[in-house]
Amino acid sequence: MGEQKIEGLVLKNYGGFYYVQDQQKNIYECKLRGKIKGQVLAGDKVIASIFKDDKGILEKVLPRDNQLYRPKIANVDMVIIVMANDKPEPSLLLLDRLLLLAHYNNISPLILLNKCDLTANEKATMIKDYYPTVGFNFIMTSAIMRTGINQLSEAIKNKIAVFAGPSGTGKSSLLNSLLGVDIKTQEVSRKIGRGKHTTRHVELYPLPLGGWIADTPGFNVLDMPPIKSQDVTTYYPDFNQYALECQFSNCVHCKEKDCGIKRAVENGDVKEFRYQNYISMLKEVKENERCYK
Ligand code: GDP
Ligand code: ZN
Repeated sequence: MGEQKIEGLVLKNYGGFYYVQDQQKNIYECKLRGKIKGQVLAGDKVIASIFKDDKGILEKVLPRDNQLYRPKIANVDMVIIVMANDKPEPSLLLLDRLLLLAHYNNISPLILLNKCDLTANEKATMIKDYYPTVGFNFIMTSAIMRTGINQLSEAIKNKIAVFAGPSGTGKSSLLNSLLGVDIKTQEVSRKIGRGKHTTRHVELYPLPLGGWIADTPGFNVLDMPPIKSQDVTTYYPDFNQYALECQFSNCVHCKEKDCGIKRAVENGDVKEFRYQNYISMLKEVKENERCYK
């Protein structure tokens, strides 16, 4: 076989090799061409020269759409924010923070309420009653009963996705369900062979319907992006239309009079809890601004 060039996606970097999947879903074990500068990440789209059946040389990294830092992964299209219907009780503050981080990184969020075989607790009901009605993508699943898994697979199709959200909400179980592993046997984690929180190698798993999911949660929620206080609502798609009605163009929707967003909260178009979470985010952003001055 002569040398052949392919375009592919890096699934993982392991033991000095890069595992590159081409459009036909073949996977090649590649070494790096010496001249490549900088790190090559899972999620990178690359050009590789193939020799032998399953071996190649990674020649070039194509420009990235984006990059997450912890874990390092490139070209993420979608973050699946997993909360549980119950056990643990969802954190709305964390949900809103993750939504902000998703929008800030230009990654589309999908809000997923797992464990829908359990009775919804009050916070879960608040999620269900608000976010889908104001335009956020939303799915309910039960990893254990395998409900909603097809819908989730459809949502990830052709995309690179990462999970985010508190531990115990079912992210590993969902990953296993997506990969078609029987989670009752817990064969899963053995098959994937990862110890929780010790993962250093990110791996993208190709899904049966197409698309890829990372085996480690994305986003470090403690990292606050350098946002200006006036721009915080840019990352709140449900606030945008009301901000147009603020009297002051530099309104941060806190102490100002005649504020479109505060009016929307009074009318119930924006939920009070969402606004309060916004205010706490705004305070944090303002404190950061002070630090950087
Ligand atoms: P992770 O920490 O987010 O990866 O969560 P795990 O996947 O480890 O799940 C935490 C616990 O919740 C485990 O005991 C799972 O068996 C359980 N679990 C996961 N998905 C579901 C579900 O859909 N329904 C119920 N009732 N339990 C679930
Ligand atoms: Zn305002």
